[in-house]
Amino acid sequence: MICIEKDKIHFSFDSEVEPVAYAENGDIVKFCCQDCYCEQIVTDGYDFNNMDMKRNNPATGPLYINGAEPGDVLRVEIKAINLMEQGSMCARTGAGIYEIDGCHCRKFLIEDGMVKFDNEIRIPIRPMVGVIGTAPKNNSISTQIPGKHGGNLDIKDIGVGALLYLPVNVQGALLFMGDIHAVQGDGETVICALEMSGEVTVKVDILKGRSDIPTPFIIAQNNYITIAADSSLDNCSVEAARKMHKFLQEHSSLTDAQSGLLLSLAGNLRISQIVNQDKGCIMEFPVGLAKEKFER
Ligand code: CA
Ligand code: CA
Repeated sequence: MICIEKDKIHFSFDSEVEPVAYAENGDIVKFCCQDCYCEQIVTDGYDFNNMDMKRNNPATGPLYINGAEPGDVLRVEIKAINLMEQGSMCARTGAGIYEIDGCHCRKFLIEDGMVKFDNEIRIPIRPMVGVIGTAPKNNSISTQIPGKHGGNLDIKDIGVGALLYLPVNVQGALLFMGDIHAVQGDGETVICALEMSGEVTVKVDILKGRSDIPTPFIIAQNNYITIAADSSLDNCSVEAARKMHKFLQEHSSLTDAQSGLLLSLAGNLRISQIVNQDKGCIMEFPVGLAKEKFER
């Protein structure tokens, strides 16, 4: 198996960056990832003032996939996420949506699949990848930002078993990923989740002639999921829902009105995160209700 070591990191999605590994269509690749703080939080109560903020949100890669050409779709199947036993979080003034006094960095242990929040509270882990995407064309996009290339999506559904469909904008696609979370709630409201170092194992497949897929797009937990990012939560909620409406019509015999009725009954419009520079919304719809003609 191809393994990319955790020192191969970048802080932007950039087509000018040299690939660190090469894969063939259908290969399985392991990305070793540092946590979003570049592992600077070493102890409970770490002083955030000591943090080098330039080393924030590293993404491991990029992986060049032979045969991937602009206009293709890259399907990334998350096969496994292996976590270290301890993760980090910070709640601090001016970050996230709450009024919090001071800065509070914490380390949390994971035991038997549960986060040990304190002596009483245990939270089941649901590992996911926060940052994942392909290089944009003629552009460099910070790993802090979500967008059409993927990026800092922070969608909790991008976990084990998920299929993520990303655009191929440049030769080889150039896939990067990082920002593993042991668990995250919708919204990621304090600006971080349980931030983990670990390994993400993925299978990469090139899909040709699939302009019908509204990338970035997810199939997870038997849901289709459309994605939108925008500085306005109003705008991205409408965009995510309309993308699903279009997807349903293109992949079923349903009319515009029938699709709308069905989405209003069984579609869930969710805030994925409300704390990044561009906010994120997703629309999920059960695969089983879609009368699908969609080829995965
Ligand atoms: Ca993130
Ligand atoms: Ca994160």
